[in-house]
Amino acid sequence: MKRIQLHDKIFEPYIDKNTIAQAVSNLAKKIEEYAGSDSIVFIVVLKGSFIFAADLAKQYTKEAVFEFYRLKSYEGTYSSGNVNILVDIEADLIKGKRVVVLEDIVDTGNTLEKIMSELAKKQPADLKIATLFYKPNAYKKDIPLDFIGIEIPNVFIVGYGLDYDELGRNLPEIYRLKKEKMIDFILFGPPGAGKGTQAKIIKDKLGLTYIATGDMFRNHIKNETPLGIKAKEFIQRGDLVPDEITIDMIKEIISDPEVKGLIFDGFPRTVKQAEFLDKLMSEKDLIIDALIALDVPEELLVNRLLERGKTSGRSDDNEETIKYRLQQYHTKTEPVKEYYQNQGKYYEVDGVGSIEEVNQRLLDVISKIKLRDRT
Ligand code: AMP
Repeated sequence: MKRIQLHDKIFEPYIDKNTIAQAVSNLAKKIEEYAGSDSIVFIVVLKGSFIFAADLAKQYTKEAVFEFYRLKSYEGTYSSGNVNILVDIEADLIKGKRVVVLEDIVDTGNTLEKIMSELAKKQPADLKIATLFYKPNAYKKDIPLDFIGIEIPNVFIVGYGLDYDELGRNLPEIYRLKKEKMIDFILFGPPGAGKGTQAKIIKDKLGLTYIATGDMFRNHIKNETPLGIKAKEFIQRGDLVPDEITIDMIKEIISDPEVKGLIFDGFPRTVKQAEFLDKLMSEKDLIIDALIALDVPEELLVNRLLERGKTSGRSDDNEETIKYRLQQYHTKTEPVKEYYQNQGKYYEVDGVGSIEEVNQRLLDVISKIKLRDRT
């Protein structure tokens, strides 16, 4: 796909020339029907409408006059509430005339509201609005739109007269701002490394979805679901729950179409789970961007888990089970590192220090990964 860059942002093709030409031609016909045998004063709203107005003018076969109105309504990629008139229209040019305003796009309706109220003061015989693009989900006003070309969702577009900070107006078709990809990663490490603590902070800071298989299992056990009943004995003795059971549980979560921007904590815990996760993500057109491992020495892990055991109420936070869980980690889970190392997605972070210190190290690595994926 042919992507382009304007200033700091990447745009991708969205609406092709033919679709636009068809919409312009339909609008010209509808306005001709409305005009009947009267002359129309078209008000071209600059700068965005200059190409639309020129193409519509060429299709419009009845008597018409063109006037130009220049407003400025936004800075950057969002609509601000402020609309200034830069080039006005003399009142006697439209007084008593049938007027059709030509807009490139109606977004929130802020610009449109200003235009309609200003033009109404100049007492036209009739005042209509024709817009090439319309974002119904962004529109906040009650003013009815008389002629609409193409309805689009609430996305930022450029081309065919529309700009991003003045660039992109000369593109012959419409491009949309490329959605910023959300990062999907695995927070990895032995029991007690601080994955849960850190994941919860990062989730809030970056607006991600947190998936912790251990928490999910504990919920199932608490609610005595069939899955909880199956998982309970494994968890109590510090064993891994069999892959099939874990995979089924994960499948249900990831299959939600809204789910993206995932932090995995406690999954994948075996190479088989990692392979399965890659498959499941690719079916959703997603990819695991990284595995970030928290590195903490073993003595510290045991101390942290014993401390946690005093308040967590977790039956697996006792000395014997902790040792067994660490052993399970080394034999079954550590090979997952290599699986992602081979894909060039392995990152390691020093997990010793205050929660804030470790968090900052993780955020630094995450920005590095985002930069890597952009280039
Ligand atoms: P955690 O809360 O991550 O320490 O997980 C607690 C326990 O849940 C583990 O010791 C396992 O018994 C079980 N568990 C959590 N995630 C998985 C997984 N991906 N595969 C197998 N068992 C898991």
